[in-house]
Parts: sequence; C-alpha cells; structure tokens
Amino acid sequence: MAVPFDQMEGLIWLDGKLVPGPDAKIHVLTHGLHYASAVFEGERAYGGTIFRGTEHSERLKNSANVLDFEIPYSVAEIDAAKTLVLEKNGLKDAYVRPIAWRGSEQLGVSAQNNKIHLAIATWEWPSYFDPAQRLRGIRLDLADYRRPDPKTAPCLAKAAGLYMICTISKHRAEKKGYADALMLDWQGRVAECTGANVFFVQDGKIHTPTADCFLDGLTRRTVIELAGRRRIDVIERRIMPDELPTFSECFITGTAAEVTAVSEIAGRSFNPGGITRQLMDDYTAEVQPKAAAA
Ligand code: PMP
Repeated sequence: MAVPFDQMEGLIWLDGKLVPGPDAKIHVLTHGLHYASAVFEGERAYGGTIFRGTEHSERLKNSANVLDFEIPYSVAEIDAAKTLVLEKNGLKDAYVRPIAWRGSEQLGVSAQNNKIHLAIATWEWPSYFDPAQRLRGIRLDLADYRRPDPKTAPCLAKAAGLYMICTISKHRAEKKGYADALMLDWQGRVAECTGANVFFVQDGKIHTPTADCFLDGLTRRTVIELAGRRRIDVIERRIMPDELPTFSECFITGTAAEVTAVSEIAGRSFNPGGITRQLMDDYTAEVQPKAAAA
C-alpha cells in the first residue's frame, strides 16, 4: 500500500519553517477543519520550475480574500517558499500543494481573530489518470450535484468547502466504473468536472462553458491560448447537456489532469481525435521550463 500522506518523507514548509512531513500537524480544534475555512492550490513543477507558479500564488491570496482572510505572506514570499521546499526535497517533477487556513483562537462561526496559517507540501506525482487512458479517453458520469449559484457559495475561490460535492460526485462515479463526473451548474448548464474544466469540439471549433460559477482554471486559460496560436476558434458560451451528441471530441483540463481526452459522458461517445491530441502535445511542450534568454 502507498505511504499515507501524513507519513510521507520529505519536508513541509509550515508557517515559515521547514519541518519533517510527519511532524507537520495541526490541532483537531482548528477552524479550517470544522468550518472549511481553508483555501488551497494545486500546482505542478516541470524540470524544477512551477508552471504559472506566480499566478497560482496570486489565486491563493485571492481565494483567501474571498473567504475574508489575508494570508500573512506576499505573493513573492509564497513563490520563494514553494521553490525552497521543492529544492530541499530534491524534486523537479512534482505536485505542489499550498494550503492556508484559519487556526484555533476561536472555534465558532465567527473567526475574526484567528491566526492564518500557511503550509506548502510537495510530492512526486505522475499523470492524474493512467497515461494510456489519457490518450484513449476517460469515461465520465453525469453528477447529481450541481455547481452552486455565485449567490450561494464563493464559487470562484479555490476553497476547501466547494469540494464537498466534488468528492461525493467522484465517489458515486467511481462506484459505477467511471473515472470522474461531469457537473452541471445551478442553471442546468454544463459546468466542469470535479477537479478539471471541460472542452468540446464541433466542426473544427472548440466550445467551452463560460466560467461564471466555477474555477477558470489556469490550464483552461493556457489551452485557450494554445488553441489561439493554432488559429483554432474557442467559443466560451452557455452549453446545455442536450448538445453533447453534437460534439465530436471532448477533453478536460487541469493542473493534475493536464489535457486528458474524454471518450464518453454517461452513454454519449466521443472520438479523442486531432484537436485533442494536438493540444495535449502543445500543452506538454508549453509546461517545459523555458531556457533562459541568451
Ligand atoms: N475546476 C476545479 C473544481 C478544480 O479543482 C481544478 C483544479 N485546480 C480546475 C477546475 C482546473 O484548474 P487549474 O487548471 O488551475 O488547475
């Protein structure tokens, strides 16, 4: 069995200090645990460089602000801490997980005076989905839960509480033999997967849901840029589930999933084809660290 995360070797950056992973503990009476007052990031280092690392740090700070707290480190300090922990752990190709949360000074709904903590962990992590599957395409179920109305939840933050419905939906999908689930939004429009954004291809053009009530992923933005460089039109719009049969290809994007083809959504088949493959290759090239200019 794989080593559990709380016993993983290597150092974790915790509130400004590097501590051995198994010692990076918090108390059970922590606000972040009881009230989901926690925000986090998922990042990847390729060849020792974190892809769009500063934008991840900015998003982390912004997610905290949405939850009404301030991380007591600047974007530059967070960037430096991420690089330090990668270096100290001797990792080049790795997943990077910063998390910030409210501490233990108050343990009720109100938490005005709680100290804000920040931890950064890194670990070696290959493809999210099996690599052969990534090319063949994964199968998605349709989730029962819907992405909430922006008036119901802080849906543009990468906040721990928003993942409650994602874990339930992913578990239900896995129990039925699917890799993941596609979620609709509160209006019944196609939204995203439990931890990745979704794209479709129709007549040589890419269509993707407007990110107005779910995370506008950095991988999503990268793929839109890459498609632009290939002169492939990308249309961000309202997509209803009854349109699924009109799309020829489907793929999902995320730091963990990278670009992964989808072969089926709840009985509707897609052909992981030319555009998906092209963008998978372009994304792989894009994330490689750029050689310093001469
Ligand atoms: N949506 C959700 C719910 C996610 O968890 C993620 C992964 N962070 C994404 C989309 C994709 O975001 P990114 O490309 O920035 O990793």
